[in-house]
Amino acid sequence: MSSIAIQDIQPLTFHGIERGKPILIAGPCSAETEEQTLDAARALSDIGVKIFRAGIWKPRTMPGGFEGVGDRGLPWLQMVRRETGMMVATEVATTDHVRAALDSGIDILWIGARTSTNPFAMQEIADSLHGHDEVTVLVKNPLNPDLDLWLGALQRILGAGITRLGAVHRGFSSAGEHIYRNNPQWHIPFELRRLAPGMTILCDPSHIGGKRQYVEPLSQIALDTGFDGLMIESHCHPDEALSDSAQQVTPAELGEILGRLVVRSGLPVDDELALLRQQIDDCDHELLAVLARRMTVSREIGRFKKAHNLRVVQPLRYQEMIKARLDEGRTLGLDTDFTQRVMQSIHEESVRQQLDTNQ
Ligand code: PEP
Ligand code: MN
Repeated sequence: MSSIAIQDIQPLTFHGIERGKPILIAGPCSAETEEQTLDAARALSDIGVKIFRAGIWKPRTMPGGFEGVGDRGLPWLQMVRRETGMMVATEVATTDHVRAALDSGIDILWIGARTSTNPFAMQEIADSLHGHDEVTVLVKNPLNPDLDLWLGALQRILGAGITRLGAVHRGFSSAGEHIYRNNPQWHIPFELRRLAPGMTILCDPSHIGGKRQYVEPLSQIALDTGFDGLMIESHCHPDEALSDSAQQVTPAELGEILGRLVVRSGLPVDDELALLRQQIDDCDHELLAVLARRMTVSREIGRFKKAHNLRVVQPLRYQEMIKARLDEGRTLGLDTDFTQRVMQSIHEESVRQQLDTNQ
């Protein structure tokens, strides 16, 4: 077993994504052709997406559905990586998938809901990940609303020494008709957050909602409730998609959705204000310390002038100094009148200090 426990997992960081900003993974449900994959990747890269997803091995509920292009899709993902610089993510469900994905340099492997439901499959995948601690692994919640099953799946991956580990909430299967394809049961990922406070937990609104109209509201809920980011399915021609066509949005639609989503601070308003006030206090401490140092130097100058029989105020030097300070203030974006008032006041006090030493 790895020495790190689930409660000690640290947040995932990705090149090009500012720490603390929502992590976005987007791309088609499935890679269907080289052209479709690259078209989606280019369009998503253009709207600022840094991590591209596409399934190549698709676990379908019913036989006869599109089961993915398989290994043939790996070079397409490599092309996406090379051409756009995006990181690439794909789903793995067997040890063969893991090996093939690792051999192809896939950055992020995710384990789907049908696989995380099965402890035998999870253990086999974990075993095949041993020694590959450079890879990032995301574990989607199991189909059934069982937090322990999800935790167990995560722990098996952790046990293989994978510490770049995160979770994806994609909702839970449930009997009967619901507005969403998968029931969010938000309390389950919230409880996971409590048990693993540092672990990156993403939300997949596409698979929760099952329809493209739900992607935006579910994403907003996720951002408002402390998820660290989103995994969203996006296809250039969603209606023609070979899997999950109803829930995919075009890259352009995704761009609009992202533009409307509101990212709120995770800090309570009071804490945020307190932090800003702390910054003001720090600035004032610095200001006062600098002023005190300046007055010490002024007294030194006063003593020097006295020793050399020089006048305290030398108008030329004063005018040059004020002009230089006003220029500097302008460069720093300070109001000129304000800089003038402050500098005049400081200078007056300096003169007073110098005169003091003259007595
Ligand atoms: C997918 O991401 O396309 C997928 C199959 O997801 P899930 O395992 O959540 O159904
Ligand atoms: Mn899908």
